[in-house]
Amino acid sequence: MRDFHLICTNCNKTYEKETRNFKCEVCNEPLELKEVKNGAITQRNILGQSLLERYKEFYPFLDVEKAGSLGGEGFTPLVFSEELSKYYGISQLYFKNESQNPTWSFKDRGTITGILRAKDLGYTKVGTVSTGNMATSVAAYGSMANMETYILVKDGIADEKLKPIAIYGPNLIKVDGDYSKLYEESLRIGNENEIYFINSDVPFRVEGYKTIAFEICEQLNFNIPDYVIVPTSAGGDIRGIEKGFREFKNSGLIDKIPKMIAVQAAGCSPIYNAFKENKENIDRVKEPNTIAHAIENPFPPSGNQVLRMLKRNGGIVVTVSDEEIIKAQKKMASIGIFGQPASATSLAAVKKLVSNNYLKENDSVVCIVTASGLKYTAALEEHKLDVIETKLENLNKIIQKKVGIKPTFFYELLFFFD
Ligand SMILES: [Zn+2]
Repeated sequence: MRDFHLICTNCNKTYEKETRNFKCEVCNEPLELKEVKNGAITQRNILGQSLLERYKEFYPFLDVEKAGSLGGEGFTPLVFSEELSKYYGISQLYFKNESQNPTWSFKDRGTITGILRAKDLGYTKVGTVSTGNMATSVAAYGSMANMETYILVKDGIADEKLKPIAIYGPNLIKVDGDYSKLYEESLRIGNENEIYFINSDVPFRVEGYKTIAFEICEQLNFNIPDYVIVPTSAGGDIRGIEKGFREFKNSGLIDKIPKMIAVQAAGCSPIYNAFKENKENIDRVKEPNTIAHAIENPFPPSGNQVLRMLKRNGGIVVTVSDEEIIKAQKKMASIGIFGQPASATSLAAVKKLVSNNYLKENDSVVCIVTASGLKYTAALEEHKLDVIETKLENLNKIIQKKVGIKPTFFYELLFFFD
């Protein structure tokens, strides 16, 4: 383990590595690990290497050799779609399919770095506040790491979401009350009870998301895309990805950083609202309402930092409606990728940005597909999905009709008497 420290993303106050703060004592904004300036990829047979072993030089706070991998996170496919590139009229459209992680979402990348940090600090208990992807991820990794795990969820959460968390055997607690206060409250309770809460934007979780950028660079042979579009809720994911590109550039591995595009659902878009009005701070969204529940955070803890990051990066924020999200979910499925509604916002953003001429024909774009569509099957009710029903004896006739073969007289006769 090498030396490292943390810096406030807003006022630059420095914190020593022993700090247990996630936020700045002065301005209450998120802390960040100091940028790595000269890392290198650990080249070895990738089949025998864990994610963190490959990029260990970018993780000065981890004793990676000792830790290894818990569950095979990362190394997800970057899928190029010629068909959808043509359809949307841009040069190259890629999908970084994060549904291929152990618990089917990008969260696993941040959960492993968070859990390893918790262990290093001597914690035996971890926790998180979440209603979906992060809860499942922390429950699974907590169990793998043999740590006592506390998952706090909002009262009223659907069984469909609750049971996939419960299967890993955490202390799963439904909390009745103001959910937006639960984030701060969990940090306080965590301090008091020695539980390391790996919430959405804690610095050591954000660090894990850098690997999405690292992999994109390697998968594109270091030809950096023009844009990376990230469904954005709390803000940890897009912050981590941008930092990953920054650290590869510092290290001379790439020569530019893509423009980052944060996409939010129109029914809950606090970062977009502030961006549009050129404000430095986000305001709480009063009544969030979108089908993209995984990015429905009315007051994202890293919202202000995402605004500062985008200003420096030259990126933008866009919103997409539920109708656009549903259409994009179907479109993405047409190339075999089934993302949850929140994941489809990135493709919905492509359509919007092409139509308003922000994205142009020579551009290369990576859409981050944050999590699997199987996580939220209730959303499928929004689609008109066809199922043909038939009796076994009529099956061939139905299929012949589909493939365009004219049925024989004999079959016609059978149907007639059916
Ligand atoms: Zn500060």
